[in-house]
Amino acid sequence: MINLSLKKNEMPLQDPKERINNFDEVSLGYSLEQAIDEAKRCLACKHKPCVKGCPVEIDIPRFIQKITQGEIEEAYQIIGESSSLPSVCGRVCPQETQCEELCVRAIKGESVAIGRLERFVADYHHNNKHLLIEHVQSNNHKIAVVGSGPSGISCAYDLAQLGYKVTMFEALHIPGGVLVYGIPEFRLPKEIVRTEIKTLQDLGVEIETNVIIGKTLSIEDLFEDGFEAVFIGTGAGLPKFMNIPGEMLNGVYSANEFLTRVNLMKAYHQSSATPIQMAKRVAVIGGGNVAVDAARCAKRLGAEEVSIVYRRSMKELPARLEEIEHAEEEGIIFKLLTNPVQIIGDEKGYVQSIECVQMELGEPDSSGRRRPLIKKDSNFIIEVESVIMAIGTTPNPLITSTTKGLDTNSSGCIITKDDSGKTSREMVFAGGDVVTGAATVILAMGAGRKSAHAIDMKIRSLNQK
Ligand SMILES: Cc1cc2nc3c(=O)[nH]c(=O)nc-3n(C[C@H](O)[C@H](O)[C@H](O)COP(=O)(O)OP(=O)(O)OC[C@H]3O[C@@H](n4cnc5c(N)ncnc54)[C@H](O)[C@@H]3O)c2cc1C
Repeated sequence: MINLSLKKNEMPLQDPKERINNFDEVSLGYSLEQAIDEAKRCLACKHKPCVKGCPVEIDIPRFIQKITQGEIEEAYQIIGESSSLPSVCGRVCPQETQCEELCVRAIKGESVAIGRLERFVADYHHNNKHLLIEHVQSNNHKIAVVGSGPSGISCAYDLAQLGYKVTMFEALHIPGGVLVYGIPEFRLPKEIVRTEIKTLQDLGVEIETNVIIGKTLSIEDLFEDGFEAVFIGTGAGLPKFMNIPGEMLNGVYSANEFLTRVNLMKAYHQSSATPIQMAKRVAVIGGGNVAVDAARCAKRLGAEEVSIVYRRSMKELPARLEEIEHAEEEGIIFKLLTNPVQIIGDEKGYVQSIECVQMELGEPDSSGRRRPLIKKDSNFIIEVESVIMAIGTTPNPLITSTTKGLDTNSSGCIITKDDSGKTSREMVFAGGDVVTGAATVILAMGAGRKSAHAIDMKIRSLNQK
């Protein structure tokens, strides 16, 4: 029977007062009963509007129907037809602007909690049953995937399922991209990422870590080694700064460095080789997921007052809704319509305060959001001892500057000819943040999938000649 409740089943959460003292996961996940009850809210619409909102086109109503029948492993297999990272996506996708936005139940009430159900199914599978992966017959064609973030994982997963021998090259010592070095443990436990990457390895994908393409090996070396196509999914990991006075002061971090030290180097453990001594008052500049993650980490590292300083209003704040709500519950202060103009230091070169201006919103700009304009004579001071810059990132130019004929745009992103990720270099494909600039996990995964299928088509056509 259909569950006619207008509201989603609530996600059990760790208490805010407790969780600001630990890095354990905040959202605890549905029980089997809660999942079945939530799944019964799905109307199983024939035209499946939700699927159109999913960049990897998971057959959402079909997997949800399996949950209503208690057939969780079958639900997992359906998700697995399209997604290599369901436990991850169930946790970090902005479902409210994708599949859930198009859910018919959202017309009157709340959408079905598609993301929470996806997470439930994938976790249930990982916790209860590990199906033996059927080994696909190898076709002996070798493909190189550069970068082990969501775009690379998704590309490698689909290619491996088609029989290709895939080797993934990763610059860092651990695979996973932003999933391991950017998104904090309390939102995405690293064990989950490791489990989903293990599925990839079980499919036969080889992962070579500590290999920087453009330095250790070039793209040309990969072709010389017998790889027939290369997919570049190297993300956008180079932090942007505001170019205002004071950004070189002690106590100023890029969010990238800060989060890498927290997530990858476990700066919150006493035993960490590079611990972070958090200042009492911290300002995080920016309003995306990165800013909210940095602010919530600073709080957990002991900062007493953490503010997010954002130049537009709450309505334009790009971070996921759930993360904003969780940050508010944890006492993060949102200083909106505020923009720094300089960081002020003391005589020893340490951050003392930031000088800001108040903003007001004008007409929409090219992004469709209302343009922030400086209010005249509105300068004021916020006293802080640390500043974290989270105003965006661009791709690292290492590969594009060492590879002949790979066209980039003025932001350093690789230009692709179509949505299959074809670049200006023959047999080189690219996708994810390195093409779009900083975006989302699921968009990167969608791009990786499309390139995998384009590479397959190309190799098949070359071998038919
Ligand atoms: C803190 C933070 C929070 C986020 N939160 C969310 C969220 O909640 N929801 C969401 O959907 N998105 C979120 N995002 C964005 C999302 O994580 C990215 O859009 C996504 O990871 C992009 O995937 P990718 O595969 O293109 O690149 P990445 O994940 O950046 O992976 C690229 C990989 O390539 C490697 N690499 C780079 N150069 C080389 C080289 N020369 N040789 C070999 N390897 C190389 C890198 O080390 C990295 O491992 C967040 C991002 C950050 C930083």
